Amino acid sequence: MTFHYTDPDGHRIEATPGYVAESAAVSFMAWNAYGDTIRVDIPVARVEELIAGIRDTARQAAIGPNPQHIGNQANAEDCPACIGTNPPYPFLCPGGQP
Ligand SMILES: [Zn+2]
Repeated sequence: MTFHYTDPDGHRIEATPGYVAESAAVSFMAWNAYGDTIRVDIPVARVEELIAGIRDTARQAAIGPNPQHIGNQANAEDCPACIGTNPPYPFLCPGGQP
């Protein structure tokens, strides 16, 4: 079985059974619009790690970037990154600190 995907810009990716260091692997081939090719071989033992990483990345893409602190002594109640963090009195945004 081979998996194929082409994005709206015509870039393609294909996953096929393969080998890396004499072990079973999934070989990914990708082509850009100019026909340049990239190949990445993922050992079968690490395929679930790859899929989990893609799921996590997709979840992050769906919710958007992490909120950023306003900083500059702003009221923490107005800062999207401070919401729910219960900053110490006087409730000012720490400005860029996690
Ligand atoms: Zn903040």
